[in-house]
Amino acid sequence: MVALVDKAAWTGIDPEAVKTRVRSAASRMRADRMRTLALICALCVAGSLFMGTARFLQEYLAGSIGAGVSTDLGRAMYHNLMRQSVGFFELRRSGDILARFSNDIFVVNQGLASVLIKVMREPIMLAVMIAIALYHDPWLTLVGVGVLPAIAIVLVKTGKKMRRSVRRSLQKVASVASLVNETVAGIAIVKAFRMEAYEEGRVEVELKKLRRHLLQRIRVRAATTPLTEFVLVLGVIAFVLMSGRRVMAGALGPADLSLLFLPLIVALGPVRKLSKVNLEIQTSVASAERIFEFVDMQPGIVQAEHPVQLPAMRESLRFDNVSFSYTDSARVLDGINLEVKCGEMIALVGFSGAGKSTLVKLLPRFYDVTEGCISIDGTDIRDASFDSLRGQISIVTQDTILFAESVRANITAGRDGYTDAQVRAAAEAANAVEFIEKLPEGYDTVLSESGSTLSGGQRQRLAIARAFIKDPAILILDEATSSLDSESERLIQQALEHFVQGRTTLVIAHRLSTVQRADRILVLHEGKILEQGTHQALLKQEGLYRRLYDTQFGLEKAAG
Ligand code: ADP
Repeated sequence: MVALVDKAAWTGIDPEAVKTRVRSAASRMRADRMRTLALICALCVAGSLFMGTARFLQEYLAGSIGAGVSTDLGRAMYHNLMRQSVGFFELRRSGDILARFSNDIFVVNQGLASVLIKVMREPIMLAVMIAIALYHDPWLTLVGVGVLPAIAIVLVKTGKKMRRSVRRSLQKVASVASLVNETVAGIAIVKAFRMEAYEEGRVEVELKKLRRHLLQRIRVRAATTPLTEFVLVLGVIAFVLMSGRRVMAGALGPADLSLLFLPLIVALGPVRKLSKVNLEIQTSVASAERIFEFVDMQPGIVQAEHPVQLPAMRESLRFDNVSFSYTDSARVLDGINLEVKCGEMIALVGFSGAGKSTLVKLLPRFYDVTEGCISIDGTDIRDASFDSLRGQISIVTQDTILFAESVRANITAGRDGYTDAQVRAAAEAANAVEFIEKLPEGYDTVLSESGSTLSGGQRQRLAIARAFIKDPAILILDEATSSLDSESERLIQQALEHFVQGRTTLVIAHRLSTVQRADRILVLHEGKILEQGTHQALLKQEGLYRRLYDTQFGLEKAAG
């Protein structure tokens, strides 16, 4: 400013005026700069708020898509699982099913969320950077990106390996879950037979295999980045050689080179990240494959396309030349011909493995006959709707299955529409009212898993109440072989006697009282009906029934 004032004095201009103008110009400039600075700061704050919001929305959106897709898959998988036949569940290990609902759904959820974030961002970044470089020098850029196909090959190879090892480790997770489930379900036996060390040994074997597969995953993951980096370095070297030659030849200036180099260097980041994303994708795909296997599988037993509404049985049910085998080999039932009249009580007896349980499992179509036909009042049960067929059959098995639900829900099997009076009547018929009313919250008491806090006899009576409330036309009973205390036994027998009246009953009999009461006894042997008749008539035949009577029922008689 001194120089300006001197110059003004020399040229005859008022130096004070110059001073004032210079000062005001300087202060204007300071104010302008402050404004610019404030503007930049405001932009930074706004930019960071915008970026933060965008990042939050992106993560939230990707996360909610992941959560939505994985729970939808869980729902679809469960829906299809419920359509599978009983045979499907008898062959599958429980842990395998459980792992798909826990581990696999979780993996797909995690994978989808993080993949969606990166897949949205990185390819855009990569494309923009390559476009900038192409704009500056297409040929040199092509040299730089020439390694991308080689990287693609690396990604495909490592991706395949990753998927394979993830699939194997998921199978092992399922095996461990199965073993744990088995041990937990049979903990009393495990303790009683001192099987703890044996069970630990079995789990240890599976865990070792799991560790091996997990290590393989880690190896693939650890090798992918160095491999990708190595190929990228080759690309960079090719680029440097080519561009160096052009610079030396004077065809390319240093400024042009940096304009070209910069976007390509920035593009390395997305390539590295995408190679990692690929591994995440493969991990999720391995889990998704296991989920889709369950979503897509066809049920073994299906309802007819145009099912008939089967009315409650009025006349008879027939087995016409029925044969059945679980696998292609041995026949478990062979040429069964049987007519059961409405209201008749049939007792099935025979050695263990004779086919008694299999025969009764065919009636509600847990399995379909291999040959022949089962009909109710002349209608092939395969033509009937599941609701109308299974709706008129109640089953009481040896192992009572109860759910971790209220007593009421266990009796109604979760169906709405039953009144309190109906629930109580069913409990009364099953001789269960007394103990239910003593429970802390009566019918609203929530049972522990499998009803394990109830006694065996109480569980049986709840199962009878559940079978009773359906008011079934057909009753299938599998008598318990293990005896309960005499009071429980009496209560159960009394309930069953009342229950079978007026119903068509097929009972797998283990008690003398049952066979004596039955209208007809079928003696099954190696899948065939060997003898049939009443207790007295069969005893007279001196055949297999007589032998069974002397060994099984005779013992009861002696004890009685
Ligand atoms: P029972 O009730 O008379 O003891 P089952 O009907 O249970 O006899 O069994 C008859 C035969 O079928 C047995 O040899 C048994 O091993 C076989 N079996 C039973 N269930 C299955 C199954 N789910 N898969 C394959 N074979 C089975």
